[in-house]
Amino acid sequence: MESVEYLVVGAGISGLSFANAIRSERAQRGQAAPGVLVIEADAQPGGYCKTIVQDGFVWDYSGHFFHFRKPEIEAWLRARMPGQDVRTVIKRTSIRFGGLDIDFPFQKNIHQLDREDFIDCLVSLYFRDEGYDPASPARSFKDMIYRRFGRGIAERFLIPYNEKLYACDLDKLDVEAMGRFFPHADVDDIIRNMQSANNQSYNASFSYPLGGAIEFVNALLHDLPGDMVSYQERLESIDLKAKVARTSKRELRFEHLVSSAPFNSMCQLAALEHQPEDFSSNKVLVFNLGFDKKGPEDVHWVYFPDPSLPFYRVGFYDNIMGSDRMSLYVEIGAASGASFDVPSTLEAVLAGLAREGYVTDHKLVSWHSVAMDPAYVHITERSLAEHARLKTELVGHGVHPVGRYGGWTYCSIEDNIIETRALAQELAQELAQELGQ
Ligand SMILES: Cc1cc2nc3c(=O)[nH]c(=O)nc-3n(C[C@H](O)[C@H](O)[C@H](O)COP(=O)(O)OP(=O)(O)OC[C@H]3O[C@@H](n4cnc5c(N)ncnc54)[C@H](O)[C@@H]3O)c2cc1C
Repeated sequence: MESVEYLVVGAGISGLSFANAIRSERAQRGQAAPGVLVIEADAQPGGYCKTIVQDGFVWDYSGHFFHFRKPEIEAWLRARMPGQDVRTVIKRTSIRFGGLDIDFPFQKNIHQLDREDFIDCLVSLYFRDEGYDPASPARSFKDMIYRRFGRGIAERFLIPYNEKLYACDLDKLDVEAMGRFFPHADVDDIIRNMQSANNQSYNASFSYPLGGAIEFVNALLHDLPGDMVSYQERLESIDLKAKVARTSKRELRFEHLVSSAPFNSMCQLAALEHQPEDFSSNKVLVFNLGFDKKGPEDVHWVYFPDPSLPFYRVGFYDNIMGSDRMSLYVEIGAASGASFDVPSTLEAVLAGLAREGYVTDHKLVSWHSVAMDPAYVHITERSLAEHARLKTELVGHGVHPVGRYGGWTYCSIEDNIIETRALAQELAQELAQELGQ
């Protein structure tokens, strides 16, 4: 049987980042070069950061825009993207509500609503504590929204929008289901914003390579030997005690297994007892649409809380890339496993875009669709507790779940890189201790 020191599952951002990081950690400590094998079920690298180039349009699997909080991570990636034009873009986003375009985030821009909506949002924000015991903590994501923002803001935007996105009852989600990605604002922020706009958010500006998200993946492949990644090789089961992985091609004994596969599938592959319903998620169906001419020019993406529209968000690649034909991504949320009739859904999407005035006499000249499942995991009290319990068991056998889906969390690609670098550091340190270094 073949043996490998580090078996990495998935050639997406997390798996490839770990492969780079363990090599560099070991080199820095003067340790022997590690044996690393990355297995990838798909024929191509990238995971959810793949890019489609079609009829002159460049599209990702849904809008992927990159906000780096650590400049050294972006610099490391850019140094491995020779000749790639990476744009830094100041974000322009809005919310389509009642025929108006309100700046994002909704809760800080209620003064842009019409008078009746504004007064209702303001009054219910002011009296938001009525009926609540301020001493008792919010019990769910939905409860947190009502308590922090009041009924007006909750029911006009935060609840209908997030119900379309997550495709579940928001009462089931944990208060911190969106973590740092939820734009919090207190009453002072909201009132101040009425006079002097400060809509800063975690992604106020973002980077985007003109070659698409795959360019960051190519950067992560840049320093790796070509034969380190084995494509079309799927992990099929893990014997935790024997530390043996069975793949679609072979059996492999591993020292450490680092997996970016979805956590629920890992539990299944390792025959760990768990309740599948503890790990629910949504699915996002994405339509990438290319038109024969330009549309609106002053916006990068728009949020749609209106339940009568099929999509929750539409983005304009052409305004990010400075190209001369309208190039959209359109995102539709549904329960995981839901099936879509793609042609009729496309028709409904085009009708919605026409109703909202984005498509007028435009001709659709190219399109593509992809389903991301899981896309947004449902972070619940139970998923957090069960993930922690099961992860401890896996780690005890040298199996490390990583990434957005291994971690069953809401995070960015930068978070994936930070996490896998930290894991590589920890494993290299452990080895140093074993070697008495
Ligand atoms: C709709 C949407 C929009 C997003 N937008 C942004 C954004 O704008 N900016 C940003 O920073 N992040 C964004 N993200 C998050 C980003 O996509 C993820 O953080 C990142 O792609 C996760 O990378 P990963 O390697 O952890 O997982 P993945 O990309 O899922 O990669 C996992 C890989 O493992 C492989 N695999 C799975 N099971 C097996 C198996 N059994 N055997 C072998 N291989 C297997 C898969 O084929 C896949 O290639 C977005 C996510 C979604 C869903």
